[in-house]
Formats: sequence, C-alpha cells, structure tokens
Amino acid sequence: MKTVYAPGRSRNFRSAIVVLLFFFLCAPAAFAEAGLTKIADNVYSSVDIRNAAPQNSFGANAGIVIGRDGIVVIDTLISAKEAKRFIRQIRAVSDKPIKYVVNTHHHLDHTFGNSEFAKLGAVIIDQENIGKIIARYDEAAFRSAVKRIGLTDEDMQGTEQWLPALTFNDRLTIDLGDQKIELISQGHSHTEDSIVAYLPDKKILFAGDLLFTNYHTNLMDADLGGWVRALDKIMAINASVIVPGHGPLSGNKDLQAMKDYLVGFDKKARELAAGGKNAETIASEIIKAFPERKELSGMVSVNVQAKYVKN
Ligand SMILES: [Zn+2]
Repeated sequence: MKTVYAPGRSRNFRSAIVVLLFFFLCAPAAFAEAGLTKIADNVYSSVDIRNAAPQNSFGANAGIVIGRDGIVVIDTLISAKEAKRFIRQIRAVSDKPIKYVVNTHHHLDHTFGNSEFAKLGAVIIDQENIGKIIARYDEAAFRSAVKRIGLTDEDMQGTEQWLPALTFNDRLTIDLGDQKIELISQGHSHTEDSIVAYLPDKKILFAGDLLFTNYHTNLMDADLGGWVRALDKIMAINASVIVPGHGPLSGNKDLQAMKDYLVGFDKKARELAAGGKNAETIASEIIKAFPERKELSGMVSVNVQAKYVKN
C-alpha cells in the first residue's frame, strides 16, 4: 500500500510546490492594476466592476475601439486620476493616437476624465443637449455636487470640466478607416443627452447608462417613459454584445430586465408614496423586489426622495 501511495504523495507535494511558486510569481500581477477586457478584436472595455464607490467612478465602464487611423474612447470616468488609470490601461493594448472621445451622456462618472484626453489631442463628442444641461450649472454647483457624493479634493486633483468640441443632434458616424462607429441619440431617457455607440460590423453596442446590469440606477435626470421607449429601440438593434454603463457584458435580456426594473420601480414607488410611506421604507421595498441588483443600492432612496416623495 505504501509503495502505491508514496508516489502519489510525492506528486501532490510537487504540485503543491508548483502552486506555491505560481502564486509567488504571479502575486505581483494580482495586486497590479486590472486591465481592460477584450470584447472583440480591437474593442476593449472595463466591465463588471464591483464595490461601486465614487473613487472608482461608481463602477462605470469605459471602453475603446482601435481603428486603422487611431482610437476612439467611449467615456472617461470620474476624475483626472481615474482617466490617467484608464489611459495606462489603453496604452497596455495600443499606442495609436487617441482621436476622439465619445461621452455617452454628461454624468460626471462618464465625463470628468475628459480633460486628460483633450490634453492628448482627442476631440470630445457629445449629443447637443449637453449645451443646455451645462448652462444650468456653474462651477460652484459642480464643486458642491462633487463634495456631496463623497469625492475629496485629493480624489479630484487635476480634474477640469471639459466640454465637447463637437456635438450632434440625431446621429453621427465616426469612420476610423477600417471600423465605423455609429452614435445614435436616444432622446430624453436616462438623461437629455443620452446616446449609444454601435459598431455595425461587430454588432457590439455601448449602451452608456441606458443600461445598468446588476446595478441600481440614477433617475435624477431621467424621463422614465422616454427611457423605456429608448430601451425598445436599442433592443431592435439586436446587438450581439452590449457593454452597459455599469455592470457585466450584457444582451437583449438585460435590456428587458432594465425595462422591467424601471416600470416596477415606478409602480412600487407611486403606490407606496400614495399610501404615505416615507422614502426609506419605499427604498427598502424596492431593494427587496430586485435582489439581483447588488450595486448602488444607496441610489434608490435618493431617487425616491427626488422623484416620488415631495417634502
Ligand atoms: Zn448616468
């Protein structure tokens, strides 16, 4: 028996050493900055970021499309610091010039890194309603909004608000030589300037915050009816892969889940508010009704307070 088992133990021992060596050799990489996820050839994005917090751009996904003539960046995260991290991730996969930045909408977790890309010569693009949105805020209002959500001066060091140099109304196509990117306005939905970016050859769609998968959402600037109609339009595109504004790689079933969430949220919040329930009670009922959405649950009571419980 001993002779039968002895070689086995020895093999186990050797494999334990191999596992330990592997761990020690790979440990520095494990602690290094995470890279972008490859979605297809020349298309990368951050996806499925957990433990969303202001310091990690609330888990916002930001992506790139690498064409023959250069790179298009889709969203720039929440600060100069976050944008610099993103630029290091981009440089790990391509050294081509960054030609354009597409903002899927104006929210700070998608645009406050813009200035770092402008410094590299990129042209920033957004839907034209950004103009009237920005006109409502002055510098002081932005500063207080940033403080309110929990970002410190250190988090925001070097961050400048950087407006788009190019805006469009309904559609704009970027041609990178061997790769077209169609920017399609969605009307007042998640925000007044929400767009999607679609790669028709690869059937990949960047949905911006029209889609949150496994996340609660931000309704502060939303038109819920417009948002649901936009989700129907995006579903009709029938993309093979959808990169949501927050959450893991998604598909049409997640667009349907988002629609169900918005409709369910609205119904529950209206009913409970009409019954005299306060924002915290309404929020906890909504969180219970959508257990698969584990991130940004703190936004639920903020949304309810803003949209359903008027004091
Ligand atoms: Zn947003």
